[in-house]
Amino acid sequence: MTSVPADGARRLRLRYPAVCSICGLQLSRGTLGMWDRAAKTATCLACADVDVSVESGVAGASAAAEAERRSTHRIEDVRRRYGDHAAAVAEAVAPNEQEIASWRKGSNGESRLAAYIEREVGDRVIALHDRLIPGTRHKNIDHMFVAPSGVWVVDSKAYKGKVVNRDVGPFWRAENKVYVGKYDRSDHANAVESQVEAVLAALRPDPEAKGTDVHAALCLVESEWGLLDFPFRVGSVWVLYPGALKKRLRKDGPVARERMEHIARRLDLSFPKA
Ligand SMILES: [Zn+2]
Repeated sequence: MTSVPADGARRLRLRYPAVCSICGLQLSRGTLGMWDRAAKTATCLACADVDVSVESGVAGASAAAEAERRSTHRIEDVRRRYGDHAAAVAEAVAPNEQEIASWRKGSNGESRLAAYIEREVGDRVIALHDRLIPGTRHKNIDHMFVAPSGVWVVDSKAYKGKVVNRDVGPFWRAENKVYVGKYDRSDHANAVESQVEAVLAALRPDPEAKGTDVHAALCLVESEWGLLDFPFRVGSVWVLYPGALKKRLRKDGPVARERMEHIARRLDLSFPKA
């Protein structure tokens, strides 16, 4: 469990509460960190550039779990009220139920986008999928891609229908809304902004990550885009299709590989797998 890197700090479970000497993170007793005996300083695992490998996580896992949970809940509800015979029927028809189907579809869109980016962009980016926003109930981030251009916070949605960028502002100011088919999906774009806030909160205290650009995107994986349609913004959030996201992730940028890895490690520690 412990290792001794060149600078003499040891990786161990802290015996006393401490504060990371670099980012100021509160480290509670028993947490894994680096302890420099001579200097009597502690460092968190994100700041100490020890080899903590980042596991991407499983894209769409929480949406799939939610679908499963709702399905089971419904069947048990039927069993309680009407008995086992009725429950057996409920079990047989449950997968057709629309709401559950939409959760499954959600999870499907997420895992398909994850696979697509992995295939097309490979290890030029570091991907983290389906992460909880700590301190919220059920709020999660579908994807975070640490790229040369910064961190991309991406929500993927599998809405069917034609994408329309509607300018609803007065003539002197552009204000865009995104419609897919006949539905206004602008709220989903706006929701990504709060995910960005959480990511910024994780990066801000870290001197090595501070100032990194954090981009927001809503990726519509199953919607129809016209030939002349381009990605557009709703507020600060890009609304785009998988190919356009791929292009942006591949772009060169100011974040060097080593810094990308550092940022990914920090995000991995800050946002637990859902
Ligand atoms: Zn730290």
